[in-house]
Amino acid sequence: CGIIGYTGTRRDEALSEVLLNGLSSLEYRGYDSAGVAIANATVSVYKSEGELSELEETLPATTLEGIAGIGHTRWSTHGPPSDTNAHPHTSCNGRVAVVHNGIVENYQELRDALEADGHEFESDTDTEVIPHLIEAALERGDKPETAFRRAISRLEGSYAVAAVVSGDEAVYATRHQSPLVLGIGDDSYFLASDVPAFLEYTDNVVYLEDGQFVSITPSGVEITNGQGSLVDMPVETVEWDI
Ligand code: GLU
Repeated sequence: CGIIGYTGTRRDEALSEVLLNGLSSLEYRGYDSAGVAIANATVSVYKSEGELSELEETLPATTLEGIAGIGHTRWSTHGPPSDTNAHPHTSCNGRVAVVHNGIVENYQELRDALEADGHEFESDTDTEVIPHLIEAALERGDKPETAFRRAISRLEGSYAVAAVVSGDEAVYATRHQSPLVLGIGDDSYFLASDVPAFLEYTDNVVYLEDGQFVSITPSGVEITNGQGSLVDMPVETVEWDI
């Protein structure tokens, strides 16, 4: 139901805190479980059924630093609320983590094909096909951005999706009939379902359109259309009080 993605070089706050702050600003949307994934040389995932306070209890006592991270508050549509069904979802080898809002309508047929190829699933969600599709493309030799696009091209339904890949400093995201906004700070970049998730860090917002892809890295932002061509989108300044 709520997505946050973050990468940047802020030094005053750990990546896990930026993600949790973002999720707490999205609580108003309603949720039954929550989680975060942080990419370094490996991807670490922490998730829990219940409130954000329960997710915080699963986090290690030390703050979590990383290059790129994603977080999610889930309002379940496929599979009951549980720790396993909470997002982020990962691929078999744990290289990819994905958060998703919406519904993948053709997930059963995708899952059947992936299982026939040896992919093992853990959850009851429609979402879990996405990290497995990305992993399958990575294994065929695609670079992460190409793998993300190839996976998304297989989906039918509604989605805002954000993904991180181990050893990669980007968050990859796209939307189709589900909201996704981009926040541009001085030294930090954000993706979210709604502006309040990052308003304490920046009020510069790009309202992404259906079918656009975006990658954020510590050095900048790239927005492309479905064919991969760069798109120039207006940056708007929101004047909301928080
Ligand atoms: N369909 C997904 C699930 O049930 C995502 C739900 C959401 O938008 O939070 O896990």
